[in-house]
Amino acid sequence: MDWKTFDRRNPKMGQKGEILAKDVYRCAFCRGKGVVSYNKKLNCPACSGTAAVRVPGLAVICAYCNGSGRAPLNKSATCIVCRGHGVVPIESKDLAGCPACKGSGRAGGTGLHCLICKGKGVIAGKKAGAVTAD
Ligand SMILES: [Zn+2]
Ligand SMILES: [Zn+2]
Ligand SMILES: [Zn+2]
Repeated sequence: MDWKTFDRRNPKMGQKGEILAKDVYRCAFCRGKGVVSYNKKLNCPACSGTAAVRVPGLAVICAYCNGSGRAPLNKSATCIVCRGHGVVPIESKDLAGCPACKGSGRAGGTGLHCLICKGKGVIAGKKAGAVTAD
């Protein structure tokens, strides 16, 4: 199975891994249009047609869908990690890249989201490598 590689040059509202604190973001799923791309009569399921999504507090770009808001396995469905918002809330600024998926948000080659970081690509932690297993 081949998965399309990310378009890293595509301009986004922020960089992956960058901590955002805007509270309100342009809806990623409908790209701020409020309707779904395949049916202009349907309200966007991610923002209910408001074209904006509210993510209070701190957030990061959803690593799993790369901020697109679309499920990598089915582009007409909302991303299960960010629910189509394109950003996911985080609890603290002390983030480390997820060691399991190396920040991709995807479990190795399967297309499913990483269970360690829940698709965010980052985990809470003071420093990368601070997690100990014994
Ligand atoms: Zn929307
Ligand atoms: Zn997502
Ligand atoms: Zn991960």
